[in-house]
Amino acid sequence: MPGTEKFGKEELKEVMDVMNTGILFRYNHEVQRNNIWKAREFEEEVKKITGAKYALAVSSGSAGILAALAASGVGYGDEVIVPPFTFAATIEAVLFLGAIPVFAEIDETLCLSAEGIEKAITPKTKAVCLVHMCGGMADMDSILDVVKKHNLLLVEDAGQAFAASYKGTYTGLFGKAGSYSFDFFKIATAGEGGVFVTNDEHTYKMAEYFCDHGHNHEGNNRGMEQHPIVGFNFRISELHAAVGLAQTRRVPEIKTINQKNKRYLQNLIKNEVKEIEFSRLPDESGDSATFLNLMLPNTELAQSFVDLLNQKGTGGFNYWYTNMYHFINQWDHIKNLRFPNKMAIHYLPIPQDYNNLQLPKSQEVIGRLVSFGIRVSWTEEEMNKLAREIINALKQVLVKVK
Ligand SMILES: *Cc1c(COP(=O)(O)O)cnc(C)c1O
Repeated sequence: MPGTEKFGKEELKEVMDVMNTGILFRYNHEVQRNNIWKAREFEEEVKKITGAKYALAVSSGSAGILAALAASGVGYGDEVIVPPFTFAATIEAVLFLGAIPVFAEIDETLCLSAEGIEKAITPKTKAVCLVHMCGGMADMDSILDVVKKHNLLLVEDAGQAFAASYKGTYTGLFGKAGSYSFDFFKIATAGEGGVFVTNDEHTYKMAEYFCDHGHNHEGNNRGMEQHPIVGFNFRISELHAAVGLAQTRRVPEIKTINQKNKRYLQNLIKNEVKEIEFSRLPDESGDSATFLNLMLPNTELAQSFVDLLNQKGTGGFNYWYTNMYHFINQWDHIKNLRFPNKMAIHYLPIPQDYNNLQLPKSQEVIGRLVSFGIRVSWTEEEMNKLAREIINALKQVLVKVK
């Protein structure tokens, strides 16, 4: 949680600006707010880092991805290609829009692969919802080729990849629209919050209206505003935006330190355990470096490695293969479409049997993956100690393959 590791007077100052005016609402109240517009400033800061033409701060990354899909025109009956390794919000957003999630294979980038996407295409495929996982990025050149070739819409869930880039373009900006999360566990936090981004004016307008009951935000009388479309309340509050603003200003520095810490740890491990592999980063220089991703030779050895770390009390890692939130194996509620109500998906022709998906590559990749959260506040001693623990555990489990 690098963002929350750095938290102090800067965040307090931004929040106090809002508290001093009492205007917690992001729109209107021009006179009382004394020119304090934290949501707007938060958006400007995100634009500055990513180069996005348009940014809209919203109540969560989940709301951001819902808005990105909706504003891009994804709706009833559309098939949307999604990865089996993501945060469940990606799939929920597709379902809430009345669209159909179609699962495709990921590869060692931990993201959908061009090959996986191509295999999942049917005549009803409308979009690809690409998710950039664990602070890294997908292999964009090959993915953009496939998306273009089949004339698909590309939407990016960059919930975990704010400030990550590929060959100079920031995640979230390769397709029609994208979303970053600023929840408590990301590189920067607003407490709760997200930011929708796009380079397309029409898509931005649709998202802006969609996230505030269709309000067009023209004029200075909210009660008299026009409603070009139906929307809902996905607004961010000024208090959350204030925290998000202060945190976002820290991100360039956090990214630099993360990269340095990750490289240090990775080199120590590589030097002593030559055969260990890591997830593939299509552009290492664009890594937001929130995770060091170890790839064990197989699932069984990864599980032994994890057991050993747990035995020794080494914390700070994730084994996503058995994690309830991030990998499809545990998503019984989604696979069985358990909702409190009747949803479009209950009536739609689904091209996959969600309970019998064949995704051997994804199973292999996530089975092998053990991710260590990179901390921005680490001292050299702390990194040396962690590296030692990882190396010892790796050596102990890897003797079995020799
Ligand atoms: C965190 C995350 C989200 C959801 O963000 P919230 O702000 O918690 O709603 C969506 N997608 C991915 C990939 C995430 O990691």
